[in-house]
Amino acid sequence: MSIVPDDRPRVLGPVVDDMTRCVHYRGPTDIIAIRFACCGEYYPCHRCHEETVKHAAQQWAAHERDRRAILCGACGHELTIAEYFAATACPRCSALFNERCALHREHYFQLDRS
Ligand SMILES: [Zn+2]
Ligand SMILES: [Zn+2]
Ligand SMILES: [Zn+2]
Repeated sequence: MSIVPDDRPRVLGPVVDDMTRCVHYRGPTDIIAIRFACCGEYYPCHRCHEETVKHAAQQWAAHERDRRAILCGACGHELTIAEYFAATACPRCSALFNERCALHREHYFQLDRS
């Protein structure tokens, strides 16, 4: 009998394992999924979203940083956007996140332009 936590939000798209790695990003630290502001669903990456849905991706606004929109694929913890921006690893299970994801933040979040 396998024990699959069923309180985790579902992750859509071409996911290749149960830590939310996908056909595009499947390195050791590619373990997060991101909830999209447009449809409210988790996808492993912006390319998964683009290939799966028929609508344009929307980004979370700067005033929505308190929303839980990042899923740690290792433990199922949901981080707020602000927590994720400040974190290099999951605050619950300490799994390291891929630092290079920061290069793609504009696909998911409206960034401050000061
Ligand atoms: Zn969407
Ligand atoms: Zn992907
Ligand atoms: Zn975790």
